Amino acid sequence: MRYISTRGQAPVRDFAGVLLAGLAEDGGLYVPETWPEWSHADWRALRGVHYAELVARVLQPFVGASIPFAVLQKLCHETYAGFGHPAVAPLVQLDTGIWAQELFHGPTLAFKDMALQLIGRLFDHVLTQTGQRITIVAATSGDTGSAAIEACADRACIDIVVLHPEGRTSEVQRRQMTTVTARNVCNLAVAGTFDDCQDLVKAMFADAPFRAELRLSAVNSINWARIAAQIPYYVAGALALGAPDNEVAFAVPTGNFGNVLAAWSARRMGLPITRLVVASNRNDIVARFLAANDMTMRAVEPSLSPSMDIQVSSNFERLLFELLDRDPAATRHAMEDFRATGHMAVSDIAWKRATGVLHGFSLDDAGTTAEIRRLYAECDYLADPHTAIGIAAARALACSHGVPTIAMATAHPAKFPDAIEQAVGFRPPLPPRLADLYDRSEHFTRVPRDLAAIQACVRATVLRNAA
Ligand SMILES: *Cc1c(COP(=O)(O)O)cnc(C)c1O
Repeated sequence: MRYISTRGQAPVRDFAGVLLAGLAEDGGLYVPETWPEWSHADWRALRGVHYAELVARVLQPFVGASIPFAVLQKLCHETYAGFGHPAVAPLVQLDTGIWAQELFHGPTLAFKDMALQLIGRLFDHVLTQTGQRITIVAATSGDTGSAAIEACADRACIDIVVLHPEGRTSEVQRRQMTTVTARNVCNLAVAGTFDDCQDLVKAMFADAPFRAELRLSAVNSINWARIAAQIPYYVAGALALGAPDNEVAFAVPTGNFGNVLAAWSARRMGLPITRLVVASNRNDIVARFLAANDMTMRAVEPSLSPSMDIQVSSNFERLLFELLDRDPAATRHAMEDFRATGHMAVSDIAWKRATGVLHGFSLDDAGTTAEIRRLYAECDYLADPHTAIGIAAARALACSHGVPTIAMATAHPAKFPDAIEQAVGFRPPLPPRLADLYDRSEHFTRVPRDLAAIQACVRATVLRNAA
């Protein structure tokens, strides 16, 4: 399988190449040169297959010759053996025609683990083959940092340095990062805000000699391998509800558009998905686009579902490329226009293509709290704020549509104890394997908001581990 950039001016690469490259050199995102198309018989052959095996088989066409199938199988089995539920991504029925698919049984209790746990191993495998080491540098407001750290901890060829704004992440989030003891992990508590952390990371990437010396890399959600590794749970969920003989729909709590793009990809491969609901909080740019072809950036507003507090959904570019008949010049033009003006003009034909599959939905904080309360009272189900928005979206769709609908449950409720307490009056306990999180010792280094000081920390981590 070969991959091309949505903007058409970067080298064509294989799977290992796009895994290591992340963003394409022309600013675009890598997408498959052609989509694998599976028949009903192909999907049926996956019925009853264990999740780890299913992942290996679904990923095989995307991985191609980059990794031998037996190795891919072994990595998938190792990855998902560490999850807290034997089905890995189980379905829970909430109502007639409505299910939640729980994607939060990984080490950090959020859906990012579903892909990142595998990506860490894929990186390590590919780097070992070529004898390379890399340094992952990331900034986090709390949520993604822990998933990246858990993905890279103890990987032989990776060092990871994560910057978080000191005192500005929740205690659970901080502890999930700082209690990891692996020696290739370095947590830096920066005296500053999340934006400062992001600016510092950008500055490190912009410092070309430093970037080359330390072989800086990223595991962010624009990496194609992350999208690919999210396709299998849509397959598993749909098969469990009778696909390919029955159609299903999914409702996806959306921020950077990576999760819903994986669902779209599964549909593109031939999985019979009738509808995808893009669920958002008050930061509803995609919902506004789908409702009225209005793609206009607004300021990000904080909400109870912080992982969806995003105005520019980076993976939207991959969808746009498809909507524009895979025309790289048109995609580049639309994206550059959007960056420059805060508005994207999408043709009527392209917009209608989008709305044929995707529906928008948005819910404000009051509605989210009410949905958490309702789910607990009526279904005895505790949903985190992101999941609650997904379930509300699934209900809205199922009412009009009548197809079995699966809401993606993207975080464990214990990750957002304040929002849950506000809705139902108590704080949800952490699952047993994390119950001692508050007793574990923390490891982090306080640093000033100073590029040179932080670069020195990154270098020291890498030198220590290379020794
Ligand atoms: C990252 C995240 C999302 C958003 O997923 P995207 O792929 O960025 O759209 C939703 N919910 C939770 C809990 C997340 O961590």
